[in-house]
Amino acid sequence: MTAPRHPDLHRAHRRRLLDALQPGDAVLLFASPHHIRSNDTEYRYRPDSDLWYLTGWEQPECAVLLRKDAAQPFLMFVQPRNPERETWEGRRPGPEGAVARFGADAAWPYDELATRLPDLLMGYRDLHYAVARDADHDQLVIGAIRAARRKARRNGLDVPDAFIDPARVLHELRLFKSEAELELMRRAADITCQAHRLAMAMTAPGVAEYELEAALDGAFRRMGGNGPGYSTIVGGGANATILHYVENRDPLRDGDLVCVDAGCEYDFYTADITRTWPVNGRFSPAQRQLYQLVLDAQLAAIDRVRPGVSHKEIHDTTVAILTRGMVRLGLLAYDRAAEEEAVGKLEIELPDPLPDDATEDQLVDRLIETERYKRYYMHGTGHWLGIDVHDVGAYVALGDSRRTQPGMVQTIEPGLYVAPDDEQAPERFRGIGIRIEDDVLCTEAGPVVLTAGVPKAIEEIEALVGSELRAR
Ligand code: MG
Ligand code: MG
Repeated sequence: MTAPRHPDLHRAHRRRLLDALQPGDAVLLFASPHHIRSNDTEYRYRPDSDLWYLTGWEQPECAVLLRKDAAQPFLMFVQPRNPERETWEGRRPGPEGAVARFGADAAWPYDELATRLPDLLMGYRDLHYAVARDADHDQLVIGAIRAARRKARRNGLDVPDAFIDPARVLHELRLFKSEAELELMRRAADITCQAHRLAMAMTAPGVAEYELEAALDGAFRRMGGNGPGYSTIVGGGANATILHYVENRDPLRDGDLVCVDAGCEYDFYTADITRTWPVNGRFSPAQRQLYQLVLDAQLAAIDRVRPGVSHKEIHDTTVAILTRGMVRLGLLAYDRAAEEEAVGKLEIELPDPLPDDATEDQLVDRLIETERYKRYYMHGTGHWLGIDVHDVGAYVALGDSRRTQPGMVQTIEPGLYVAPDDEQAPERFRGIGIRIEDDVLCTEAGPVVLTAGVPKAIEEIEALVGSELRAR
């Protein structure tokens, strides 16, 4: 890409960042390196999210320097034009293109960074730079600061004397999505919904996990996305109880559920959807019970995505509903030995045994206090979503769980996973893994589900699964 697809988006992000910085602040970002896949072949290049957010630049070997209150606040160091290399590796905008099309105030070849950086840093005190992430970059930055210090003895200018992690300011900005960003996220969500519907429609016993993966990933590309924003998970039967199962190699079996977690990345914004459906199109009674419980927890948690509700409160909502449901379904019961074992892993005192006449409320509270629900619900309820699937932004602020605010997008993805060999679980639940995940925008008016275009109610799923084959 020799010109940004969304120049206004990146210009607005730079403006927001420069406004948020303190006087004397500079920001230095580097492009991601190429990563080797094996021997001499590389993974397809993915730009660094921070650098792309601010520039739209998609090539490696790039550094960006943004300086508060400077006459030239936006500087780039990029690969120079080179017809011979470009024949092999692809087109390069070069420093000329960085200025003309990406809006840089000035740009130079990347290999001039080390010599130019000392002068460019003079007059700045705090450098927003991710120290200790890349040894070569650290060495270059430290060398530049050392050189700047020598010059400062003569000209008396400030030299950076503190590194600030980009998480402090830049990642806080990324946590709050603008309308222009939400447009891209909605596109990613819409493509992902369509892909999940396709996968549901083609599901039948004997279809392989990789066939669903191929349909999903193919749909992402066909509809203009970059591809999956993370490795597509297609887990049939007990494979769904492995949270990050990506082998996707087995045939789907009659009577099993299949759990699909896949999201399209569109212009580097990703969606993240999980649906779980019956391979033969009909939930069994046991599957139906667990599925409805997860869905109830998910709907309740989505309803809590409102301004002022904390990340922890949202999680506690799913834990409370799932735990009570597991008690009612006989998946969890009072068991002193299991309680002692669970408490042994926690930093809490072993509570007194529950009395024989304990109420359901007391039992649920105890199962939560001793974290016994984690046997079947072992992950968090969701995460921030944006350019990264597990997007940046702090979950805790000054020791308190972060409160949801308008403009944040988070996933809500409760699940239940019963290992196939779990002898504590009633037999009918063994080997069932269920997760339901949507992407939810917080607004003043309440939660907006960006991924509502793919069904999750039992009847709607049963109507769609296998419909493509029935239509033949
Ligand atoms: Mg997911
Ligand atoms: Mg997720």
